[in-house]
Amino acid sequence: MNRYRIKFHRINHIFISHLHGDHYLGLMGLLSTMHLQGRTEPIHLYAPNDLQEIIDIQLRYSETILRYEIIFHPVNPASSKMIFEDEDIEVRTIVLNHRIPCTGFLFTEKPKLRKLQKEKLLEYSIPVSVYPELKRGENYVAEDGKVILNAELTTDPRLPRSYAFCSDTLYNERIIPMIKGIDLLYHEATFMNDKIERAAETYHTTAEQAGTIALKAGVKRLLIGHFSARYKNLYPLLEEAKEIFKNTSLALEGDKFIID
Ligand SMILES: [Zn+2]
Ligand SMILES: [Zn+2]
Repeated sequence: MNRYRIKFHRINHIFISHLHGDHYLGLMGLLSTMHLQGRTEPIHLYAPNDLQEIIDIQLRYSETILRYEIIFHPVNPASSKMIFEDEDIEVRTIVLNHRIPCTGFLFTEKPKLRKLQKEKLLEYSIPVSVYPELKRGENYVAEDGKVILNAELTTDPRLPRSYAFCSDTLYNERIIPMIKGIDLLYHEATFMNDKIERAAETYHTTAEQAGTIALKAGVKRLLIGHFSARYKNLYPLLEEAKEIFKNTSLALEGDKFIID
């Protein structure tokens, strides 16, 4: 995060999928750094229930009293739930199938309001008090009863964007209905398909299987990651996924993927 100049104070919500070390051992360092940097804003943590105890023990034995509050939201790994909502976005859990309880996360923007066309509003002398109604798509009815259609005064908003994080998991078609048609899917691809049995034993997915999930779910773009350390060259994994689902990229540290 330092290397890519991501400002720590901009992070207010952290989502942890499961309690294998590669998914949370860095968290304590991050929380401590935030403390040392003088953070006072609370942080929301969405994670398996047991993580609370793990954090408490570390704070207790280092005799650390954080300057900020951790607001802990235990996630139920057995069923999909909405765990966060504000005026812009919603976050839901996705039930994954891993060796220990594990959830993915689906982030979806709420539908945006229609965009007002300033010049038109002035042209028709529309009172400011009706702007909220116009944003919601209603027509304008003047005092003399004359109607101006909404399409005259507003333009379509940007389509709501969506992103899902699915790691770690066995190949699992049950996640497909939840991620249908989303803009960007991150899916683990720990192995190549020649290690499909190893993938099954360890509750992981192959690159080809990740491509299949993306294809069946009709997502717009796939990112694969969580590669086994055995692969020094990751391009064969990318090629394998691309054979099934063309619009695939490697989720490499520091790369930026923009949904527009
Ligand atoms: Zn794991
Ligand atoms: Zn993992």
